[in-house]
Amino acid sequence: MGAPEAFTATTEVGHYINGAVVAGTSGRAQPVFNPATGAVARQVALAGVDEVNAAVAAAKAAFPAWADTPPIRRARVLNAFLALLNQHRDTLAAMITSEHGKVFTDAQGEVSRGIDIVEFACGIPQLLKGDYTEQVSTGIDNWTLRQPLGVVAGITPFNFPCMVPMWMFPIAIAAGNTFVLKPSERDPSPSLFMAELLKQAGLPDGVFNVVQGDKLAVDTLLEHPDMKALSFVGSTPIAHYIYERGAHFGKRVQALGGAKNHMVVMPDADLEQTVDALIGSAYGSAGERCMAISVAVLVGEVADKIVPLLAERAKALTIKNGMELDAEMGPVITAQALDRIEGYIAQGVEEGAQLVVDGRGHKVPGHEKGFFTGGTLFDHVKPHMRIYKEEIFGPVLACVRAKDFAEAVQLVNDHEFGNGVACFTRDGNVAREFARRIQVGMVGINVPIPVPMAWQGFGGWKRSLFGDMHAYGEEGVRFYTRQKSIMQRWPESTPKGAEFVMPTAK
Ligand code: NAD
Repeated sequence: MGAPEAFTATTEVGHYINGAVVAGTSGRAQPVFNPATGAVARQVALAGVDEVNAAVAAAKAAFPAWADTPPIRRARVLNAFLALLNQHRDTLAAMITSEHGKVFTDAQGEVSRGIDIVEFACGIPQLLKGDYTEQVSTGIDNWTLRQPLGVVAGITPFNFPCMVPMWMFPIAIAAGNTFVLKPSERDPSPSLFMAELLKQAGLPDGVFNVVQGDKLAVDTLLEHPDMKALSFVGSTPIAHYIYERGAHFGKRVQALGGAKNHMVVMPDADLEQTVDALIGSAYGSAGERCMAISVAVLVGEVADKIVPLLAERAKALTIKNGMELDAEMGPVITAQALDRIEGYIAQGVEEGAQLVVDGRGHKVPGHEKGFFTGGTLFDHVKPHMRIYKEEIFGPVLACVRAKDFAEAVQLVNDHEFGNGVACFTRDGNVAREFARRIQVGMVGINVPIPVPMAWQGFGGWKRSLFGDMHAYGEEGVRFYTRQKSIMQRWPESTPKGAEFVMPTAK
């Protein structure tokens, strides 16, 4: 593959309302950086209340006709969108790399995982099929069907500016809802590009809208009387806030939060496979994945064997501008994120963890102002330390030593987060026990980042998810629809006379 074309637009990123890009009118905007150079690449508008209200009004106006459109015709629009996404996947990937910093091939992977959800949503006629029971009583039939909710919103994080919105809107609109997306203000450009592709695919104006913004836009969506449901993905404090506020205003909410994902390494694990898995999942995307492995739980004698191998590999990471195709790790998202991550490293040293590889102060020649940090490795991390308890969201791997399997399982189960987890072993019974006993939503057995496929659904446990339903898959269809139960009989079979007792099957 030749060098991909960089995304270099300089125009302010606006909103997308009722089928058109709209410039910001609130007078508020903030810079969007290219994290590899540290330079301001463009501005993003930050919506005021009026702009959010305009987006919701457009979505509300579009809802009746869209909800009435037969599911197969809605699916055809998504099929056309799918074809366009496949055609433009590298353009989207370059946009992601230029605003997020992750390496281009990883950004391509992100787009592909988003495309998977669109493919799933194309099956909406099958997914919306209801249940039917003939003759629940003499001459009476009962069936259930699922109908769309109305206007729904998605509020998404910076780390997957394309895939996480696609966890939400393809299923929501396939099910007949209309949508308002509030993407991360750090990497807003893919949202507008996806909106344009949806329009080209034939989506009616107003069905998909985008408002750029910050807390003000989110709060306006949360409180809006026409907003029926909100899907949120981001950090745990904000997820909890969205869940509480959404419930207060009577909305349906799913709010996915942060993570501290452990990989338990048993003494019988394949060492080479385990080292590859830890390096890729701890340092891939500079650790800015909610499914990144940030803790290695090394059981028994495996610790002394594996730490030197990890150290060697962490030091040898190829860290550069993600548009260079040999890059393994790019920069982190902002200068503030860099300070936070390097601050955690200092804290870990202060707390007495052993700093085996120190990534702080990493400089990439020609990109001295980029937001780069190297891969960091700690050993002898203890459960009371902040670097163990809190989500760092950067390329920092903490090794904790456990004496046996039971202690490792207890450690994972005691952690406040429960997004993803992995166990590396050759022992089938250990693997089975692990999968059964672990208090985590997504479990990998010799799979480091067990992100479920489009039709399975994604979600953590504990403080990694607030709400009842996971994202996408059939849970996603249930989230974006509500069940209606219909019972009917016809005059020919109606008994004469009023009934004053609870009806039972006759
Ligand atoms: P974030 O919580 O800062 O922001 C997420 C969204 O919330 C953004 O759209 C942002 O504009 C908005 N927001 C921020 N502050 C707000 C406030 N005070 N009130 C209302 N809205 C606010 O998260 P981030 O830094 O963009 O993303 C990283 C986080 O997301 C990490 O914690 C990561 O684990 C998590 N994440 C979780 C999953 C998952 O599936 N569980 C997936 C991806 C990312």
